[in-house]
Parts: sequence; C-alpha cells; structure tokens
Amino acid sequence: QEISADAPELSTHSESLEYLKEQGFRVSSMYRVCNTPEEVWSAVQKIGADRERLEYEIDGAVIKTNAFSQRERLGATSKFPRWATAYKYPPEKKFTRLKEIEIHVGRTGVLTPLALLEPVFLAGSTISKATLHNMDYIRERDIRIGDMVQIMKAGDVIPAVVSVDREARIQERETVPRTEFTMPETCPECGGPVLREAGEAAFRCTNPECPAKIYRGLIHFTSKDAMNIEGLGPAVLRVLCDQGLITGIGDIYRLKDRRAELIGIERMGEKSVENLLNSIENRKKNELYRLIFGLGIRQVGAAASKVLANHFGSMDALMQADPETLESLEDFGHITAESVYEFFQNPRTRALIAELKELGLNMVCETKAAPLVHSEITGKTFVLTGTLPTLKRADAQKLIEEHGGKCSSSVSSKTDYVLAGEEAGSKLERARQLGIRILSEEEFRELLK
Ligand SMILES: [Zn+2]
Repeated sequence: QEISADAPELSTHSESLEYLKEQGFRVSSMYRVCNTPEEVWSAVQKIGADRERLEYEIDGAVIKTNAFSQRERLGATSKFPRWATAYKYPPEKKFTRLKEIEIHVGRTGVLTPLALLEPVFLAGSTISKATLHNMDYIRERDIRIGDMVQIMKAGDVIPAVVSVDREARIQERETVPRTEFTMPETCPECGGPVLREAGEAAFRCTNPECPAKIYRGLIHFTSKDAMNIEGLGPAVLRVLCDQGLITGIGDIYRLKDRRAELIGIERMGEKSVENLLNSIENRKKNELYRLIFGLGIRQVGAAASKVLANHFGSMDALMQADPETLESLEDFGHITAESVYEFFQNPRTRALIAELKELGLNMVCETKAAPLVHSEITGKTFVLTGTLPTLKRADAQKLIEEHGGKCSSSVSSKTDYVLAGEEAGSKLERARQLGIRILSEEEFRELLK
C-alpha cells in the first residue's frame, strides 16, 4: 500500500492508529483511549477477559500516554520509556481429562512422561499434550491417569499439568476409574534397561544403541546451532532411520555412496538428493565448536562448546584434557568438567571421533592454528601440575598456546617442559625421572619474554 506524501500532522497515538487503519493496515481493534486510572483498569480487565477469543496469543496489555508531546516531556530511563508500561496477565489455566501417560525418550535417554489430554483450547491454541516433567513431579501432585487436571501455558513454554481436581476424583469414583502411573522398568522404544542415577530426578534408558536416543541425537547433530545440515531435519532423518540408511552419525557422511537408494525414497527427487549431499559435504568444514556441540555432551551447550574449541584448538587436545583443566575453564563447574571428561573417556566416543576424522570432518579450530606471538616456546609441549603462585591453570595454558606452545595432560619423553607449582604430585616425580626441564612460574614468565 502506498502512503500519500501529504500525510496529516499526527499528535496522538490513537490518531496514528486511525490513520494507519484508513491506509489499509491491520490495526488491533482492542485499543481504547482512557481518561482516568479507573478507565485504564477496566480496559485492562476487559482485554484480559476477551483474550481467550483472540486468534493470537497475548500475555499482557500495554498502557501508553496518548499525546506525543507528553511522551517527549516524560522521556525515558536508560532502559525504558517513561510513557509506556505493561500489565501482565496471569498465565491461562484450564481443566481437562488426562487420558493417558506416554513416555518420550530424549537424546540423553531421559524418559519424560507426557500427558495425553482431551483436547482443550488454551492461550490461542488447541492443547492435547502437556509435560509432566518427571516421576517426582507426578508423585508430589498425586496425578493419576483418568484425573481431571489443570493445565497451564505461559509464553512459549510447553504446556504443563499443574494440579488435579480432587473433588472430581471422588465424584467420579464409580464411573471413571483412576490409575496410578509407574515408570516402566524397560525403555518403551528399545526394551533396554531403565536406571535412575543417584540424586537425579530422571530415569534413563541405558542402552547406547537405543534407536530413540540415536534418532534424537541425529536431530541435534544436524540442527542449526550444531552442524547445520540443510535438508536433514527430523522428518527426513525419520525416513532415513526407518529405511536403515542411517544408524548413527557416521552414516550421514556415507549417504553419498547410496545415492540411488536416496533417490528411490518418496518425495526425494534427484535435485533434492543432490542438494542434501552437497550440504553434508560442505558442512564437513564447519568450525570445530559446531561438531563439539553436535556430539551432544551432557551439560555442554553451544557457548561452552565454543569455549572448548577455542581453548583446546583441536579435538585431539580436547580428548586429552584432564578434569582439573576443564574445571578451570570460563563458566565450567565441576559437573560440566566431569561430564566432558567422562564423555571423551568413553570408548564409543573415541571410536566415533576416529570415524568422523577418517570421513574428513574438520577437527581443528582455525583461529587457534597460528600462534599469536612467536617465542622460545613455539612448538614446545608443556605439562602443568600443582598450583601456581599467581597464574590460574587455564590462564597459563592460554599463554602457552598464544605463544605457540602445546599443553598435554601427561608427562612423557615428548614433554619439553613441566610447569610446576605448589603441591605438584606424580607428574613432577615423573618429569624428574625423565630429566625433563621443570619450570617455576617465574622461570616460565621469563621464557615468554
Ligand atoms: Zn531405549
């Protein structure tokens, strides 16, 4: 729509909305011009009462000063204008029947109970499933199959079951039986053993070959923030898994040898197969952090993956990292460090990395390749041990790498220097036996000059 150049002089918000409407724009019909605080409050309540009938979801109403001249006088704080404020409605809740509880097996094997509901319209959409989080959540609220349950949806969050109508349970005890839910002892997807780890709310399928885990792992691996392989989303992966063309991450990179079979798959024309295979090949060159994130290490998101890639510079170095070094990284706690360490100690991980390396995936962090500064330690291998007087382990490691040196976790004949601080243990002992030069922090700093 073209707006005429001789637009009228507008002095209020409501005038501008009316003007936009005249010009053919879609403007919300729910705005009101109010003259007193009482009018504002009743308008807010009216919108709140009507919001269920809207074809879109709203979580609040905004109260604004109408006159532009007043807006100018009111101005803004460093973050917000002073002439507008939002009123947030409480999240919508509704009762419906819990028909069944289904188990969803996630990427890490966690079994999540899902409520299958009598469909109900809530906050702009029809809801037929809601999360029950975990077994503790169900027990604490005494949620049973057959119950009338209250569900809530707030913002973009998945709808959740929040409470049970106990009255209804009593009233319906003759007509609608309730059944208590128990977590299955075997995985509903693969029949593998289900275990609850100490101190965890989650039950997990422990079968590493569980097809549900593999499928969800593949979805994660190819996703936008990970390897970002276009054309290999959940639906296509489902088909390729069902057809046996993919049974693990490595198979993605062998699809090029099965072109004919791919073209044979319904809706996968020659052109889209070509595009898919190109996309897979091109993404082999991805930055290292994408691969690290794609592997789906517990507790490790995209940001932590970047820290790992930048710090270690290569998959090989990362695989050798010891828990202390990992824990000293920015934003890495004990649990994350342990999780990364255990992940790379797992023979399955090591086999997968070797396979992906063989298939030609990038295993180094490009930005790390060239040392920032050339010095006496360029190309030398260091082992760190004990507590240094001023340098943190991660900082020392960073300095070494910036000067072109490498860090290793164990002392061997290939070690050039051992940087030792207080309470250095067996590594220092071993360095002495092998006659490797041992540095104090002071001597180390001297070398960097
Ligand atoms: Zn399973």
